Amino acid sequence: MNTIDFILDLIYPPSCLACGELQTIGTQVPLCPACQTKWEELRRAYCPVCGDYETVCACKPPLLADLIRNVECVHLVPYEQTTVAGSLLLIAKDERLFRLTGFFADELTSALAARGIMQGQERTVITYLPRAVSRKADTGVDQAESLARALGKRLELPVVKAFARRGAPPQKELTADERLRSARRTYRLRKGFSLPEGSTVLLVDDILTTGATMLTGAELLRSAGAGSIVCVCVGRSVESSKKQKK
Ligand SMILES: [Zn+2]
Ligand SMILES: [Zn+2]
Repeated sequence: MNTIDFILDLIYPPSCLACGELQTIGTQVPLCPACQTKWEELRRAYCPVCGDYETVCACKPPLLADLIRNVECVHLVPYEQTTVAGSLLLIAKDERLFRLTGFFADELTSALAARGIMQGQERTVITYLPRAVSRKADTGVDQAESLARALGKRLELPVVKAFARRGAPPQKELTADERLRSARRTYRLRKGFSLPEGSTVLLVDDILTTGATMLTGAELLRSAGAGSIVCVCVGRSVESSKKQKK
């Protein structure tokens, strides 16, 4: 930690991003010890579908399992608004917090290493599905982009801008099919974007719900030349994992 950060910590002591409890000066982790324990419990939760630990589970939402080949999913924790993971993911939507993005990226780096995705791997790039310009203007944050960039640094992989988007209505109230139609209308490849044949692409987002957005991104990447695609997210919605098939 450098002197400026140390002085800033003295003026604004760091607090736990989940419960607000004040933390030790100089801490780099976003959670107090109690919330850290809760986070680790979520990491060790069992997937309701395959019965494996959430962190090693490779289950996909039905859309991603049925409609496209050669797509893997990696996630860290089940996502529910009421848990520590829920609080962190909600904060990440509205505030740019390097401590938090760095924490997610560190955890994802180990989760990816466990799946054989390593630093500086050849013909591998990272990309993300951008937020609507209006939302980014309101909050100053594109959490998927921040996460992709933090992950790029750790994995020493290039982050590419693959997608352009139109504004789209919020997806919350839509069914999976409606979300898919809406996502397909929203995203397209940037003009002239292509990938070397057979590239591996890590497609980063914060939360995986029905998989409609990820599927749309994966289809576009495939048409640009991507070989294997890995959907990388922090939280996987608990509802979607209950509904998915074996
Ligand atoms: Zn806490
Ligand atoms: Zn599973």
